[in-house]
Amino acid sequence: MSVDTNDTTNDTTSDTKAFILLDRDGVINRDLPRSVLRVEDFELLPGAAEAIATLDGKGFGVLVITNQACVGRGDLPAEGLEAIHALMLERLAAAGGRIAGIYVCPHTDEAGCNCRKPRPGLIERARDEHGFEPARTWFVGDSERDVLAAVAAGCRPVLLRSGKPLASPPADVPVFDDLTQFARVLSEGRLDTPPAKRFAAVK
Ligand SMILES: [Mg+2]
Ligand SMILES: [Zn+2]
Repeated sequence: MSVDTNDTTNDTTSDTKAFILLDRDGVINRDLPRSVLRVEDFELLPGAAEAIATLDGKGFGVLVITNQACVGRGDLPAEGLEAIHALMLERLAAAGGRIAGIYVCPHTDEAGCNCRKPRPGLIERARDEHGFEPARTWFVGDSERDVLAAVAAGCRPVLLRSGKPLASPPADVPVFDDLTQFARVLSEGRLDTPPAKRFAAVK
């Protein structure tokens, strides 16, 4: 099928639901130097929950794709991460923000797994479970790893400045201040970048 990037709602002529993929730290919640290790340190970024509600209202499913090497390093037990994510879902839901799935790579770089961004494994798992078409799926991140993972999985990368902003973002990757601005531009149909060619330079 053709990719109609002006279609900002779930394409009813397609048999697959449209999804938006989000990195977690620096996109949904405030990033911390050594990640979020305690529920009391989890802080949603201003407007993030409402932005996710906006995306949901436009018919997009929203999935979280996150590296959490703090688990592999032994700084955060798996139950601790679950508690943080339960709190995240609760806070998002309070503002109408729904998340359809959370995908976590708990490994360190040394583990050499296929799921730690910049590798595409997590996105591919999400694709297999939710059946979205990568070529019409935006991946919203705040780091070079996010862009590389998105490109490796065939998705369209977007960068936010709400995390640790890149000094020189890759050419042709759209950059927004925060999730609010991204959701607004997307829902107004102003994000219409043909994927494959424009992002070839990122590789
Ligand atoms: Mg991040
Ligand atoms: Zn992994």
